Amino acid sequence: RAKEDGRGAFRFFEPSMDEQMRARRDLEMDLGSALARGELALFYQPLVDTEQGRVGGFEALLRWQHPVRGTVSPAAFIPLAEETGMIAAIGAWVIRRACADAACWPLPVKVAVNLSPVQFRDRSLPRIVAEALAESGLDPARLELEITESLLLLDDEKVLEILHGLRAQGVRIAMDDFGTGYSSLSYLRRFPFDKIKIDQSFVRGMMEQEDCAAIVSTVVSLGRLLGMSVNAEGVETREQFLALREQGCGEVQGYLFSPPRPAEEVVAMLGSIRQDACATDCLSPGGG
Ligand code: C2E
Ligand code: MG
Ligand code: MG
Ligand code: MG
Repeated sequence: RAKEDGRGAFRFFEPSMDEQMRARRDLEMDLGSALARGELALFYQPLVDTEQGRVGGFEALLRWQHPVRGTVSPAAFIPLAEETGMIAAIGAWVIRRACADAACWPLPVKVAVNLSPVQFRDRSLPRIVAEALAESGLDPARLELEITESLLLLDDEKVLEILHGLRAQGVRIAMDDFGTGYSSLSYLRRFPFDKIKIDQSFVRGMMEQEDCAAIVSTVVSLGRLLGMSVNAEGVETREQFLALREQGCGEVQGYLFSPPRPAEEVVAMLGSIRQDACATDCLSPGGG
């Protein structure tokens, strides 16, 4: 029928594309007011030290609690925020909120904050971070900023300058989702990261697939040889945890310990991570 009217089968997709655009525009408008309406919140997932089995910090993960749509995943709205430029305001809010939250925690553990490459487009980031630290009184050594490989793809002197500006404040820099982007080992030379985070896609397959296992163990040794800490994300089983610890991966996070939870639950999480997941037979009582 589409051919009959001479416009090609593509015609059948027009209404749905139109709908998609409208849905996107609606979401965009809602996102524009989400901050002001107080619909954005940070959830926190514990970062577990494999040696001691203790919570060494939390990663802040953004949630949008929409009055009608319910909880919108960052995978759905971060790209939109990046395309529209709204990530600048949202990202600055995340940094301030995370520093303010962490400054009130009962133990001086780290807080990790995800940054978008778009936040590096101008030079305001070091100032935004400095202000968040000053306002909250948070020790800069407790703040860890997570960036992805796509940032370094820009191969920009400006990006390196900003990273050095952040580092100069005493803040730590972690390479997130390592191995999933346009990975280049030269990135690890171009900037001395404090930490490499192994992406959960490798952790997921590490007990069954040789290629995932090889990538995980190689990144763990690479990090150690380069003097960088190594984190593995998406740890869901005790077997994965034990294998990672055995290999010398210093930090893990994942549903095995806890999913990201609301800020109010951080204090409870500090005391309640699954010790049984970390315990081994030879671990001495009260040790560590
Ligand atoms: P990410 O930084 O790599 O965060 C880890 C993601 O894995 C989180 O998804 C977390 O909830 C999920 N996760 C943790 N443990 C497990 C597990 O055991 N199994 C599985 N299957 N998943 C696990 P989330 O919270 O949906 O965030 C997705 C991504 O959105 C993040 O990936 C990060 O790239 C981005 N994001 C989140 N918050 C922010 C933010 O404040 N700013 C920016 N720019 N990006 C953010
Ligand atoms: Mg992250
Ligand atoms: Mg990650
Ligand atoms: Mg990831």
